[in-house]
Amino acid sequence: MEDLLNKLNEQNELTKIEIVYFLQHLTLELQKRLFHLAVETRKKHYNESVYLRGLIEFSNYCKQDCMYCGLRRSNPEVDRYRLTEEEILECAAEGYNLGYRSFVLQSGEDFRYTEELMVRIVKSLKARFPDAAITLSMGERSEAFYRALYAAGTDRYLLRHETASRSLYESLHPGMSFDNRMNCLRILKDIGYQVGAGFMVGLPEQTHEHLAEDLLFLKEFHPAMIGIGPFIPHSATPLKDTAGGTIEDTLVMIALARLFVPDALMPATTAMGTLDPTGREQALSAGANVVMPNLSPLRFREKYELYENKICTGDQASQCRNCIEMRIMASGYQIELSRGDNCNFISTPEKEQLL
Ligand code: SAM
Repeated sequence: MEDLLNKLNEQNELTKIEIVYFLQHLTLELQKRLFHLAVETRKKHYNESVYLRGLIEFSNYCKQDCMYCGLRRSNPEVDRYRLTEEEILECAAEGYNLGYRSFVLQSGEDFRYTEELMVRIVKSLKARFPDAAITLSMGERSEAFYRALYAAGTDRYLLRHETASRSLYESLHPGMSFDNRMNCLRILKDIGYQVGAGFMVGLPEQTHEHLAEDLLFLKEFHPAMIGIGPFIPHSATPLKDTAGGTIEDTLVMIALARLFVPDALMPATTAMGTLDPTGREQALSAGANVVMPNLSPLRFREKYELYENKICTGDQASQCRNCIEMRIMASGYQIELSRGDNCNFISTPEKEQLL
């Protein structure tokens, strides 16, 4: 096992068989070493910085029916909402005044937000906040849509692959295509976006082999951002009686992903904070380096319920910022409110400043 950890640390890769063996035989002692190496690896690229992104959840309408997600179209209990263009701009303005220079606009797959509307929104955001980075996370769209939004000024796109196993993917996403998701990711990367991929840990029927495939996919695809979170069962979905993921298993996958893709930006996800009050801090101590406080209007927060008991649904944007900042600094990190680009996407002088 020591050999495997050394190989991973030095070469940033393992074979599928080695990953599975590693996951099967991981002891607490080795886990500690793994987290330490992940943190050291992150430091080489991003120092002690933790990047803040203001999250705006602008619509909870979704045309998809993912088995795990509380927003799935077959869940009649969801009180659906959409933010107007003005409301989105107001959220961003509030965030900008709080110091954020990076915004993530996330929604279900809601085609009411047409290419024309999204281009207008992104252009307005860029005109008002030219020094801020804009990330979109609104699911699978056409190549033409992705190109138009990139041309409008969008910097990044988050589209988790969810699981790199075709069979597991198909069992969880009725009516969706594994090939199309992967194709969207490749198109986004070709266009020039900083692309975020990622997966859930603890999905029903997910095995160590599946998780090994996720890591190998990340290695090959080399995304700029990697989002890994525990699956949390939602009571209004078909997976309501399943066990869900644990903090511990997710931390191990975060640390492994950091070692497989050393220069990725990796969020300490809200799902981690939901499973454990210190979940996000623990994720930072396993190699994550991004936190995404919520800027969505308070009256809609509880309605964007991917899973239940989601944290921070009652805090004003300013309270969120203070709380997060305290937690990050107490863990010994440094808050970064700048655009927070992936280190392969920034110019050399900026890079030198970072390190
Ligand atoms: N619709 C967009 C998409 O498909 O990429 C973005 C929004 S989607 C709700 C954001 C992410 O939430 C998904 O990629 C999924 O990994 C995560 N998610 C959904 N349901 C979840 C659950 N029950 N537990 C943990 N994460 C969940």
